[in-house]
Amino acid sequence: MPSATALNARIPVYDLLVIGGGINGTAVARDAAGRGLSVVLCEKDDLASHTSSASTKLIHGGLRYLEHYDFKLVRESLKEREILLRAAPHIIWPLRFILPYDEGLRPKWLLRMGLFLYDNLGGRELLPGTKTRKRRKGSRFDVLKDRLETGFEYSDCWVEDSRLVALNAVDAAQQGADIFTRTEVRSIKGEGGLYRAELQNRDTSKTIKVRGIVNAAGPWVDSLLSTIEQSDVKDETTLRLVKGSHIVVPKLYDGDHAFIFQNSDERVIFAIPYEQNFTLIGTTDVPHERPENLPQASAEEIQYLCDCVNEYFETQTTPADVVWTYSGVRPLYDDKAADASDVTRDYVLDLKKYETDAPFVSVYGGKITTSRKLADHVMEKIKHYYPDMGKPWTKNAYFPGGNIPEADFEEFYKSQLEHYPDLDPKLVRLICRRYGTRITRVLRNGVGQYFGGNLTEADARYLVEFEWAEEPEDILWRRTKCGLHMSEAEQSAFKEWFKFANLV
Ligand SMILES: Cc1cc2nc3c(=O)[nH]c(=O)nc-3n(C[C@H](O)[C@H](O)[C@H](O)COP(=O)(O)OP(=O)(O)OC[C@H]3O[C@@H](n4cnc5c(N)ncnc54)[C@H](O)[C@@H]3O)c2cc1C
Repeated sequence: MPSATALNARIPVYDLLVIGGGINGTAVARDAAGRGLSVVLCEKDDLASHTSSASTKLIHGGLRYLEHYDFKLVRESLKEREILLRAAPHIIWPLRFILPYDEGLRPKWLLRMGLFLYDNLGGRELLPGTKTRKRRKGSRFDVLKDRLETGFEYSDCWVEDSRLVALNAVDAAQQGADIFTRTEVRSIKGEGGLYRAELQNRDTSKTIKVRGIVNAAGPWVDSLLSTIEQSDVKDETTLRLVKGSHIVVPKLYDGDHAFIFQNSDERVIFAIPYEQNFTLIGTTDVPHERPENLPQASAEEIQYLCDCVNEYFETQTTPADVVWTYSGVRPLYDDKAADASDVTRDYVLDLKKYETDAPFVSVYGGKITTSRKLADHVMEKIKHYYPDMGKPWTKNAYFPGGNIPEADFEEFYKSQLEHYPDLDPKLVRLICRRYGTRITRVLRNGVGQYFGGNLTEADARYLVEFEWAEEPEDILWRRTKCGLHMSEAEQSAFKEWFKFANLV
């Protein structure tokens, strides 16, 4: 155990226990480990197995939040866009959005004003600003219905959400954190200035003591409080669970731009190029009762998303076209908004102490986009308890594999083609996207066996050795999305290989 000190021969003591291996937990673990704290992160399933792999995958300010006057959230998010883009240009890239003007919905002046604010609120150096666009032959309006003649084009960014989670964890581990996946925190008790936590993984249980806890259990953030023994934990919940679903359909248009459509219910729907051959359409906002009911896209949600895009695209989409769906639950802070779409997407940090003087911070809400900043705020909140803790450091730090010169992915990719002349350039590109400058480590023994769907033995071996992949699904659906490109037979063959490959 690299970073724990022993209080007695049996029970390891850490500075900080982070509960939850989603984006918020891993970002906190990374930040804390980099500031010199001894950190342990426990995730009951796989990294990013819940909300953090089910997002729309945008690093964005959230244009619609401007309508809620959530300027602080939008400004913070916009600032984070370029920080993250520089730090991980392999898994985060600029995306241009077309926002068509549709008569009868938001007026043009409002869209223009919103986009002016969006361009200027957070400071922009890398991303191009908004442009007015008109229908012209060969323009991006060609695929849209005839009534849509004008609109705007603006910038945001795409992120491979579950990869960002994994990279946070890799960085945390590089700086000494212990990352325990498939390890549930079963109970917590404050005693003698510390917390004692009982952990359970597949076949063993373990006790640790910690000087502080960050509860980043996402949809389980409130249920986790009920595992605290002898506390005066209140029953009243501050959590609002809101399900969001996406559908994936065969590519609806060519080009690397996305669309944002206004819906008549005032929500917005995105259509985004996805995994080379597909279009991703999302999302919905449906109240969700219990975190243990794992979310799934309902027939109504699928129909709703089809109807929304059918209002805009010439090509019509039906539920029969849907090749894959995914759903996640937003663990939002309950600000008592009447409508699920109106609940704030900002985060709230709740610092308490349970039967001891050690800090216990619960994280509510947040976005993939604000995870780095959220971690920074968590550290700020608990620094008083750790006088020797280091200073903020993540703003100018790369994520593993992100140290690409000038953050120029295309140049980097071209340089890698020269290193791997015998490989299919498309595969080299995908591997550059997955691992950035860590490609050399991934391909140190060549690509090995090919499983179809752009998945290679080199991926599997690397992901097991360095990114806590333990099950075939971890690789097929979270560390990569190769599952989407593989036939049932190819997936079965991979699973069979995985069982006997002696990877650990
Ligand atoms: C449909 C949808 C679209 C979204 N789109 C975007 C977007 O485009 N951009 C953006 O910035 N944000 C977006 N978000 C928001 C973002 O995805 C979430 O805010 C974020 O993923 C929440 O992360 P988390 O770490 O808090 O929760 P999670 O990712 O759910 O992680 C919490 C983890 O805690 C673990 N856990 C729970 N209890 C225990 C326990 N007792 N012991 C150990 N582990 C435990 C769980 O297994 C889980 O993995 C979207 C969200 C949704 C639902």
